[in-house]
Amino acid sequence: MDQYQILKQYFGYDTFREGQETLINGILEGRDVFGIMPTGSGKSLCFQIPALMMEGITLVISPLISLMKDQVGNLNQAGIHAAYLNSSLTTNQYFKALDFARQGRYPIIYVAPERLMTDSFLDFALNTKISMVAVDEAHCISQWGQDFRPSYLKIVEFIKRLPVRPIVSAFTATATQEVRDDVIDILELQNPTVITTGFDRSNLFFGVMTPKDRYGAIRNYLETHPRQSGIIYCLTRKNVEEVCERLIKDGFAATRYHAGLSDGERRKNQEDFIYDRVPIICATSAFGMGIDKSDVRFVLHYGMPKNLEEYYQEAGRAGRDGEPSECILYYAGQDVITNQLFIENNKDNEEMDEITQELVKERDRERLKKMTFYCFTNECLRDYILKYFGEYGSNYCGNCSNCLTQFEEVDITDAAKAMIGCVESSRQRYGVTVIIDTLHGANTAKIRQYGMDQNPYYGELAKVPAYKLRQIMNYLQLQEYLAVTNDEYAVVKLTANSRKLIEAGEPLFMKMAKEQERVPKADRKGRKRKGSVSLDDRDESLFEKLRTLRMEIAREEKVPPYIVFSDKTLTHMCVVKPKNKQEMLTVSGVGEFKYEKYGARFLKCMMGEEKQ
Ligand code: ADP
Ligand code: MG
Ligand code: ZN
Repeated sequence: MDQYQILKQYFGYDTFREGQETLINGILEGRDVFGIMPTGSGKSLCFQIPALMMEGITLVISPLISLMKDQVGNLNQAGIHAAYLNSSLTTNQYFKALDFARQGRYPIIYVAPERLMTDSFLDFALNTKISMVAVDEAHCISQWGQDFRPSYLKIVEFIKRLPVRPIVSAFTATATQEVRDDVIDILELQNPTVITTGFDRSNLFFGVMTPKDRYGAIRNYLETHPRQSGIIYCLTRKNVEEVCERLIKDGFAATRYHAGLSDGERRKNQEDFIYDRVPIICATSAFGMGIDKSDVRFVLHYGMPKNLEEYYQEAGRAGRDGEPSECILYYAGQDVITNQLFIENNKDNEEMDEITQELVKERDRERLKKMTFYCFTNECLRDYILKYFGEYGSNYCGNCSNCLTQFEEVDITDAAKAMIGCVESSRQRYGVTVIIDTLHGANTAKIRQYGMDQNPYYGELAKVPAYKLRQIMNYLQLQEYLAVTNDEYAVVKLTANSRKLIEAGEPLFMKMAKEQERVPKADRKGRKRKGSVSLDDRDESLFEKLRTLRMEIAREEKVPPYIVFSDKTLTHMCVVKPKNKQEMLTVSGVGEFKYEKYGARFLKCMMGEEKQ
């Protein structure tokens, strides 16, 4: 079978996605390859397909047990023999698996990096034909990345021990140049074919909201998105507890995950989520690495993470199956302070000398600032993210909260001058709230105590709503007409530009959301989302029936539902409405093997629908 037949027969797909073909062909020509592609782009197929075509065994190195389990489960479901060797196996199971491997039963074996140099594994590997070593999550080899794993360094040592050098392939979703260079250098890739595909995830909707009542906003989201599976990230363990508790009290099926729980509870809660027993998980950033669940429909952030790297990684756990999914960040001003405290009290770098520590902190503060600007900007959010990672966006994506809000250009010259004047006349001593309250003419104890009711600008902008004053304040920071100190006091200061603005005769404009014409809710729900066929009501009910059947099968086979069929496959089934085997095989994600296993049951389920 060639690569196209395998794609269809085993995986049920008609065409390759961007980058896949080049990487597969590179491997088949005997070259090393390096694939840098975003999450959900289909990196696994790039080593799995050639593994089935080459003589000998492909070893896949993966950092986490859960990732291995998931991928091996997927392969077995597709009718491909694969196994994993890691610490989750008992000694007996481990040696049994090695025996099967010696007999040539598995074309693909997943191995934990710690295993590679053990006697028992070397004894096997040195006496077998290893055609390829595929390094998944290859960024783990770089100390620059967030996920450095010293055990990954063993891979090189291992490859050198082999009698014949196998093809080495590496895959990651992490983009930065340092990490890329490290992967090539440390793994000693030989003249590799390198493929980088864009980092855009067009099926993801990005949104930023600044609601007064964050919990209420999230509850509202969940109410309008029933039966969907999603993650709610919180900044602290305490937030996780609070949000999870309130959700349960409000009748939602939710669970929790953070580093303060016992190993047992963490494992159980994670599995409940993956197996769709509980659709919603509240978690800190400790949750996620190794979550391959493909049908996560939303990732909500109750609080702003400390940088865009982290945000994009967490948000990116939505929609791996390519179906429309939503990533919404619920921002509040205190998030900045929480993150500043994280940065100042960071104990991770204690072994560094003081100067280096200070440099790292400075870098982290800068990253936090860029993250904060993401929450303020009125420009396309996708564009902002892509630019941050060094790509060119398009200014307008049509699938983010800013692109879907109607804006108007507003002349803010007078307001800006008053703000700068107020900061200057109060001798740059106060934070954002005091400045805004002063301009707004608030009659509070604090304002009187600071004597700000005597400030020449007191009440100067009384007619502008306070939230708009905040937007303008944010915008002035974004444009560097004002700055806020990076410490816990967050004092507003003048910048080199402040004077220029006051003296220049030029007006200053800012994009502001139009009051009445915000895209109405009903519209948003019905909008045709990118990358998807929308289902009408009848199809929705069919989709639900197929989902129920999928859950039934998943329970019988003790695998997560998305491993039986992905949401995308079920959606496609609702559109194609296959009546026989031939038609069923045209559905994306249905291959021969899966058809034999489940085809009849799904056809029957579709037929039942026909008769109604
Ligand atoms: P990555 O490792 O790059 O994050 P995966 O290998 O886990 O992504 O693949 C993500 C999803 O995309 C899986 O559900 C996979 O079956 C699907 N997929 C991969 N290649 C294709 C393709 N050519 N056509 C359709 N779906 C694909
Ligand atoms: Mg992967
Ligand atoms: Zn946009």
